[in-house]
Amino acid sequence: MQTHHQTLFIDGEWIKPFSSNRIEVISATTEEVIGSVPEGSEADIDRAVAAARRALKESAWATCSPAERGEALNRFADALEKRGAKLAQAVSMQNGMPINTADQLESGYTVALMRYYAALAINMQVEESRASPLGFNTLVRREPIGVVGAIIPWNFPVILSMMKIGPALAAGCTIVLKPSPGTVLDSYIVAEAAEEAKFPPGVINWVPGGRELGAYLVSHPGIDKVAFTGSTAAGRSIAQACGKLLRPVSLELGGKSAAIILEDANLDAVLQGLPSVSLTSNGQACFSCTRILVPSRRYKEIVDAISATVSSYVVGDPLDRATQIGPMGSSIHRDRVEGYIAKGKSEAKLVAGGGRPSDRTRGWFVQPTVFADVSNSSTIAQEEIFGPVLSIIRYHDENEAVRIANDSAYGLGGTVWSVDHERALNLARRVESGTIGINGYMPDLNTPFGGVKASGLGREMGPESVAAYQQLKSIYLLG
Ligand code: NAD
Repeated sequence: MQTHHQTLFIDGEWIKPFSSNRIEVISATTEEVIGSVPEGSEADIDRAVAAARRALKESAWATCSPAERGEALNRFADALEKRGAKLAQAVSMQNGMPINTADQLESGYTVALMRYYAALAINMQVEESRASPLGFNTLVRREPIGVVGAIIPWNFPVILSMMKIGPALAAGCTIVLKPSPGTVLDSYIVAEAAEEAKFPPGVINWVPGGRELGAYLVSHPGIDKVAFTGSTAAGRSIAQACGKLLRPVSLELGGKSAAIILEDANLDAVLQGLPSVSLTSNGQACFSCTRILVPSRRYKEIVDAISATVSSYVVGDPLDRATQIGPMGSSIHRDRVEGYIAKGKSEAKLVAGGGRPSDRTRGWFVQPTVFADVSNSSTIAQEEIFGPVLSIIRYHDENEAVRIANDSAYGLGGTVWSVDHERALNLARRVESGTIGINGYMPDLNTPFGGVKASGLGREMGPESVAAYQQLKSIYLLG
């Protein structure tokens, strides 16, 4: 079934776009057109930003209490929950995410996150009185930072939108989102949910388009803060634009995380964790632990077990519940992943996969692939591949494991595997990354998520994320 949209959701209405240009969405599995939407233009962004500004300053949103904002977010969560199955299916068809993962993260986690932000808003304290050492009181106010411009990538389009909409709206901001052209059909389902939640017009607006439109939104004079998730290269360019404008920006960028398997690790637990830790959504997840650090004393045993497990994964239609690995998100992206696999063959020893699955004549599939004897300085260990390609790297002692883990431009995720909790925790403390898991990995919506080094600036999720959408004002009560 194909889905074709003719309008854009701006200012609380479905309106005709200014341009007749269209974005076609292609299924990662069948390579056929599954839908299309209008391509937004600069004039549509102007209109959306103006609507968001009006909503911020003049609508009921401007005067409603944090608790009322929380109630609106709860209504939004209910409307999203009703559409959970549709959302998961739309994402899966567009970018190849296995449906079980889409159900869990793009649907279930999305609703949980929105309810979490609703609760934060309901319990939010906007003003705090502080006694000054100078003998008077000061009122510290947390005010919404203003109109937010949010740019979303194609890999987890729903949850990454929620990670911006939730804290922005909890703080009282309004928002203009630019989804990625590759995954834009889901944004219409989210917009329908927003319409049902009855936010005042202009509180949330969507304008689909490519990178030029994104750059226009980032530098738009009506935007007060930019929230970006995507590649490190685009993040640098956005940071530059925001730097010139002195515009606050949060950046969630790429990763090349390490799974450190300690000598005493339970290998069965490692193998069970591998799909979610290293290969979530076909390896198209920013936090994937694609460098597997293995102790030399258990090297052969672990390499053999990982390569056998990965070779056994079911590769196929992402809508099939038995599928563990679906296709890459686009044909260009598959070319890129295959380029890295070719490079890997010259840099290391291929022990699993390395080609396309022979039974798949359509769709942008690559076999889940494992390289062993990888040097951490090689291209496949240093660059983000963003596909189902794992590099196994040998280490001799724990200090060397930490050195290798930290010898990366990135610092987003990571895992440590050991039956000795304290030992694993002590090692996790030494890894330079914004997040890390012990014997597994699952971003916690109640704690900050984000990266260090080239993985980004700022944090999403947790109560801390709301601060990125607020500005502080001190009112000195002198008389
Ligand atoms: P991308 O940077 O190519 O595009 C991301 C979004 O930014 C798209 O909407 C695109 O149209 C827009 N864009 C691109 N260049 C822009 C520019 N100069 N100005 C404004 N907008 C611009 O990334 P992608 O291929 O869509 O996504 C994959 C990348 O995202 C990977 O590097 C992945 O690690 C990263 N990512 C990071 C996180 C995180 O939380 N750290 C989460 C998911 C994905």
